[in-house]
Amino acid sequence: MTEHRTCQHVAYRLTCEDVDLRLEQNGGRCEICGVPSESTYKGMLYIDHDYKYGYYAVRGLLCNACNLRLDDDTLERTEKEVRYLSDPWWLDLLKRRHAENVAAARRPQRRFVHVLGVERAAHLQA
Ligand SMILES: [Zn+2]
Ligand SMILES: [Zn+2]
Repeated sequence: MTEHRTCQHVAYRLTCEDVDLRLEQNGGRCEICGVPSESTYKGMLYIDHDYKYGYYAVRGLLCNACNLRLDDDTLERTEKEVRYLSDPWWLDLLKRRHAENVAAARRPQRRFVHVLGVERAAHLQA
């Protein structure tokens, strides 16, 4: 597992595995300018999110410079920035969670239990 320096992702409710997969997908580079994480100011990439929506709206991993540029709504977006914004991280996370849910629903993992005399379906973890 990659070292995440501060595990800043906890605030975003992302797991270490989520971050590892993303780093694997982007090759450990800023997703806009492509600078390797070790060459950035603090030797790490920042989790970028859309502040208009909240912490769950993570868009990707960026160097400090690109992260600051995106926060400035007065700047015109470059082609790379537009491409980055059109395919946000949260969309990938949602697709993966959905695929997991679909796989879980296919497994016969239900049994009936009595709760206060009422029979209820218990959803068991795999
Ligand atoms: Zn971590
Ligand atoms: Zn960058």
